[in-house]
Amino acid sequence: MKLFSLLFILLTAITHITAQANETDRSWNQPVEPFKIAGNVYYVGANEITSYLITTPKGHILIDSGFKETVPQIRANVGKLGFKIEDIRYLLNSQAHYDHAAGLADLRTITGAKLLASVEDAKLLARGGKDDPNFGDRFPYEPVTADMTFSDGWKLKFGGTTMTANITPGHTKGCTSWSTTVNEGGKKLNVIFVCSTTAPGYKLVDNPKYPDIAHDFERTFTRMKKFKVDIFLSAHGNQFKLDEKLALLRSGTKVNPFIDPKGYPEYLVETEKAFRELLASQIATR
Ligand SMILES: [Zn+2]
Repeated sequence: MKLFSLLFILLTAITHITAQANETDRSWNQPVEPFKIAGNVYYVGANEITSYLITTPKGHILIDSGFKETVPQIRANVGKLGFKIEDIRYLLNSQAHYDHAAGLADLRTITGAKLLASVEDAKLLARGGKDDPNFGDRFPYEPVTADMTFSDGWKLKFGGTTMTANITPGHTKGCTSWSTTVNEGGKKLNVIFVCSTTAPGYKLVDNPKYPDIAHDFERTFTRMKKFKVDIFLSAHGNQFKLDEKLALLRSGTKVNPFIDPKGYPEYLVETEKAFRELLASQIATR
């Protein structure tokens, strides 16, 4: 009897640890059949929480882990595409928030890959998302220590692919929008993996944990507007209309729907408007 109750407590505890916290998280973590976006860039993430595989002859690169619960999907997706998860050599992260970083610890164990992070987001990764300037301790995850940190403009050159780290701070202090180029139909296309320029409920004025936050967002918008983008990807599926584009791709459209030079500036305009409204309202009620 005693053993039985102990087992029960143990099982409940395990379920509690592995079950996803809320309905929104679960709705963001629905499986998606993996597919090729363009060139050597593949989609291996969930419906809203994205994850990208960039393949090279020397081994692969993965951007973002999703939630801890996304990891089994990523693992299965990489396999379905005919690649081996063990061949992933580098783990990259867009932003050190739980919905994009909570699975990094597990992925590193599975792959043995090196985790590369921006100087500032490496600190948040090492705190397991705690003491976030806007979320405090609300969204913790298993802490991970980066194997190497980098600053703005650093390039990962591996297996013929170059990934450039553009630090676009605001959403997190070390928010990293990776960029690369792919060859598609004889054309060289610019690809961006946007970190995020959203400020959901953020404290943009008098934020003691991030005094420069509004200034950082301003600089990020100015800078990101200058990027010439052909293929617009992001940490969240809805930001680049993943659903719509994937439906078009599966319908057999001739033009790759992920080539979307208009979608990128539109996203910036939209998020900058939201940022400015939030900032103005916070200045007004200061
Ligand atoms: Zn975030």
